[in-house]
Amino acid sequence: MNKIADNLKRVQDNIAAACQRCGRQTSEITTVVVTKSANIDMIKEVVRLGCTDLGENRVQHLKITAEDLDIFLSQNANNPNIPKQITWHMIGHLQRNKVRQLLRNCQIIHSVDTLRVAEEVSRDAEKALVTPKILMQVNCSQEPQKYGVPVGAAVHLAEQIVTMPNIKLVGLMTMAPLTLDIDIVKESFARARELFEEIKGEKIAGPEFNQLSMGMSQDYEIAIEYGATILRIGSAIFS
Ligand SMILES: *Cc1c(COP(=O)(O)O)cnc(C)c1O
Repeated sequence: MNKIADNLKRVQDNIAAACQRCGRQTSEITTVVVTKSANIDMIKEVVRLGCTDLGENRVQHLKITAEDLDIFLSQNANNPNIPKQITWHMIGHLQRNKVRQLLRNCQIIHSVDTLRVAEEVSRDAEKALVTPKILMQVNCSQEPQKYGVPVGAAVHLAEQIVTMPNIKLVGLMTMAPLTLDIDIVKESFARARELFEEIKGEKIAGPEFNQLSMGMSQDYEIAIEYGATILRIGSAIFS
């Protein structure tokens, strides 16, 4: 468990250094701790260390973990060092038949990449009387990735999403290609940033459109340089 504390400290120090290099404030950046490779004791440990934003890519694992953590938080309600509340981020590919279940535990969905999924989230949110935040996942690599709306179709999808009730479009999410070639990673972050600024500039969404979710364990320092406001980090903390 000491290892998790050390890892987290190292990541936080790297984030601070990267911010300093490009003149940004660490307060502009939310770190989502990705729990997919962690067990419940490891997850409780990061919460004890003060992490309040957790991310999962499977609905079922998110649900089980969120329920376990709710009990943990209520047992520790009098402990000032333990957060009162967790914000859950869904970062994985979303099947439409899982949306309703997801909305019970999750406040922000990073992986909306088709009209049909957006419509399902909107419909289920309306029924459940919730208004989840969503990010549109964009495929910013030149490679044919499985998920994410193509850059050329993104503005149009954003225009459609903002008309739907009970969902709030707050930004974009992207994944860089899995490569050690830093220039390719930079290119895809630059493309995401450009699209983010375009949607913001054209005022397609409201002022709440201000989140750019990009950067994982391999590339979060580069993502900061390209304007990321949400980092999604798993293995650098849990391994
Ligand atoms: C697993 C995952 C992450 C975190 O990846 P690490 O390399 O472990 O930091 C971030 N985003 C998504 C969508 C993921 O599936």
